Amino acid sequence: MTNETEYGFETIALHAGQNPEQVTGAVIPPIFQTSTYAQPAVGEHLGYEYARTGNPTRTALEECLAALEGADHGICFASGMAATDTVLRRLAPGDHIVLGDDAYGGTFRLISAIYTGGGVKWSPADLTNPAVLDAHWNPATTVVWLETPTNPLLTVFDIEAIAEITHRHGAKLVVDNTFASPYLQQPLALGADLVTHSTTKYIGGHSDVVGGFVATNDEEWANDLRYLQNAIGAVPGPQDCFLTLRGAKTLAVRMDRHCENARRIVELLLSHPAVGDVLYPGLDGHPGAQIAARQMKAAGGMVSFRVKAGMEKAMELAASTKLFTLAESLGGVESLIEHPGAMTHLSAAGSPLEVPDDLVRLSVGIETADDLVEDLRSALDRI
Ligand SMILES: *Cc1c(COP(=O)(O)O)cnc(C)c1O
Repeated sequence: MTNETEYGFETIALHAGQNPEQVTGAVIPPIFQTSTYAQPAVGEHLGYEYARTGNPTRTALEECLAALEGADHGICFASGMAATDTVLRRLAPGDHIVLGDDAYGGTFRLISAIYTGGGVKWSPADLTNPAVLDAHWNPATTVVWLETPTNPLLTVFDIEAIAEITHRHGAKLVVDNTFASPYLQQPLALGADLVTHSTTKYIGGHSDVVGGFVATNDEEWANDLRYLQNAIGAVPGPQDCFLTLRGAKTLAVRMDRHCENARRIVELLLSHPAVGDVLYPGLDGHPGAQIAARQMKAAGGMVSFRVKAGMEKAMELAASTKLFTLAESLGGVESLIEHPGAMTHLSAAGSPLEVPDDLVRLSVGIETADDLVEDLRSALDRI
């Protein structure tokens, strides 16, 4: 498939990087379960030498995901954290990271506990007012790192405005696009320099594989990341690449249903007396609603809310639904519920990124909407 930019998202998902295999004509890129490749002569090879460096199943996935993000370069990793880590490896001691002040707990842990040991500095910032970034710009800042919508508070940051400020100061903007997926939001087109993903979530979409991905149009970063991918070796195996690519094919139709079902759940939450604030970027009252409407195709499948009766009842609720499974992670076809303060975001306890203890996070799946609404309603009625 050439001229990918002429095709729609669904077409790209099914065809980019996925020409029929040359030897047999297999329509689906095979799982090349090999660690090495025979070479015709010393110093000559057919494009692949060793499977840490490259694997055709991985190439297919990298080309497809890059095309979905509108990127020239795509690089896959063994997990979202491996993708994050490989991007951060490019920083030097003394470099400073601005981290949006609501972020995935693992990203916070990696930066605050591991990278600071290597001399990298960081500070959290409330990027809902991008001007704050300008006013307090630290000359050592080389990277601004944000998620939008954020995990788990579903705060929306203005990618375009933040990219403009970041670039004016000569730094790079990285957007973790895991929550939106490239179907709902394409940060590179809005000015971001790099996009990262936990493909474990919406892109894989079936809760059966862990993976990570980075996309960029920056040639220099792409070359460095390729070098680091091979040097560090946190690469996904061919089976994982196959499953992730299989998931990516249906991303668009799944996301449409996730968004529809999330809307129904939000309606229930807004009308239920046990529920306090409902955090969803598609709500008119949400502070980021206008930005979300501008930079996202729809508001997504993640919904968070606060339980009026407090922490204990929030935990009780999270353990009492039947269809919403109590579990970490998100973005799969089945609905999940969790208590971020005690689960996914425990590593941020006591930090500026701590989350409220009465918060419950839902990953709304693609089950029959009425069933999901009934399940959550009866659990809410009981608390
Ligand atoms: C899950 C997640 C990650 C980490 O990805 P893994 O695949 O679990 O390593 C990073 N960012 C966000 C927003 C996530 O939800």
